[in-house]
Amino acid sequence: MPSSKTIIIGSGPAGCTAAIYAARANLHPILITGMNEGGQLLQTPDIQNWPGEPSISGADLMNKLMEHAKSLGAEFINDEITGVDFSKKPFTLTGDMDSYEADTVIIATGASPKYLGLPSEEKFKGQGVSACATCDGFFYRDQPVAVVGGGNTAITEALYLADICSHVYLVHRRDEFRAEKMLIDRLEDKVSAGKITKVCNAVIDEVTGDDLKGVSGIRVKYKDGRIEDISITGLFVAIGHTPNTGIFTSQLENNQGTITVGVNPDFKTSTSVSGVFAAGDCADSRYRQAITSAGSGCQAALDVEKFLQLKESH
Ligand code: FAD
Ligand code: NAP
Repeated sequence: MPSSKTIIIGSGPAGCTAAIYAARANLHPILITGMNEGGQLLQTPDIQNWPGEPSISGADLMNKLMEHAKSLGAEFINDEITGVDFSKKPFTLTGDMDSYEADTVIIATGASPKYLGLPSEEKFKGQGVSACATCDGFFYRDQPVAVVGGGNTAITEALYLADICSHVYLVHRRDEFRAEKMLIDRLEDKVSAGKITKVCNAVIDEVTGDDLKGVSGIRVKYKDGRIEDISITGLFVAIGHTPNTGIFTSQLENNQGTITVGVNPDFKTSTSVSGVFAAGDCADSRYRQAITSAGSGCQAALDVEKFLQLKESH
C-alpha cells in the first residue's frame, strides 16, 4: 500500500503548490490527482491575474505547476479517492485503483460546477448543455449559444464563445453583474460589437430540443412575466460551484460543504481532525482564485511541516 508522511488530494493550484512546498521540506509527498488533473483552471483559455504572467492559458499554467512539483520529487498518482478514514492513525484513503496510508493529509479537492436543476437541462447534458466553454465551445463554431450566470465564470465563458460562435446570449437573473470590472468592460465591448446580447432579469424556464439533434433553444422567463424563446444550439451553465467534499463531510466540520479551517489556532489550514489540513476552493467560499488557492496550499504544506516537527519532538 503506498504510504507517505503527507498525502495531498487534488492537483489544482492548491494541491500542486502544497506539493512544491512539501517536497522542498523533504516530506516526500504523494499527490493524488483525481480525474480532473490540473483542476478547474484547465477550463480557461486565458488567465490575466496570475502574478508574473500577464496572459497564460490555464493548461499551460497548470502543466508548469505540475512539472515544478514533480521536478522537486513529489510523486503524482492518477487516482480518485472514494473514501477516507480519519478516525485512526495512520489515516487511510481508499481510491479507485489503490489504498493509501498517511500521517497527514492535505485536502485540495476544489469545486465543481452547479447546474440549474431543470429536467430539460439534465436531459440535454452532453447533447448541447455544458458547464465548460473551453472544453466544448469548439463544437458550436459559427452557431448561436447561450451562457447563464453573472459572475466571473459566466463573463469569461461568454467572451471566449463570442470569438468562436455566431452569437452569444448572456442570460442573467438580475441586471447587475457580480463579475469584476475589467471583465464587464470587455463584455460591453462585445455587446457594442453585436457579438453578445445581454438577456437580463430573466431565468431559463426550459431547454428545448429533440433527442436526435440535441438542444435547439431556451425558453426564458423575465421578471415582468414575459416569456421569450431564443434559438441556440448550445447552453453553457456558469452559475457557480459546489465544493468537492462529499467524502469528507461526515468526518470533518464544514459549512454547507466548505471545510472549516483554522480549527487549531496554531495552524491556519487545520481542520477539525488533527493531522488533516485543507486548502483552496474546498475550504474557501469567498475568494476562490487561483492565487489564493495556491497561497493556502503553501500554508497547508508549511502547517504540515510544523505539525510533524512538533509531533516528532514530543
Ligand atoms: P481545483 O482547481 O478545483 O482542483 C481540484 C483538484 O482536486 C482537481 O485536480 C481534482 O481532480 C481533484 N479532486 C477532486 N476530488 C477528488 C477526489 N475525490 N480524489 C482525488 N482528487 C480529487 N481563478 C483565477 O485566479 N483567475 C482566472 O482567470 C480564473 N478563471 C477561471 C475560469 C473558469 C472557467 C473557472 C471555472 C474558474 C476560474 N478561476 C480563476 C478560479 C480557479 O480556477 C479556482 O479558484 C482554482 O482552480 C481552485 O484551485 P484548487 O486547487 O482549490 O481546486
Ligand atoms: P459566482 O461568483 O458565485 O457567480 C455565480 C453567478 O450565477 C451569479 O451571477 C449568480 O447570480 C448566478 N446564479 C447562481 N445560481 C443561479 C441560478 N440557480 N439560476 C441563475 N443564476 C444563478 O461563481 P463563478 O462565476 O463561477 O465564480 C466562482 C469563483 O471563481 C469566484 O470567486 C470568481 O472570482 C472565480 N473566478 C475568477 C475568474 C477571474 O479572475 N477572471 C474567472 C472565473 C472565476 P447572482 O449574481 O444574482 O447571485
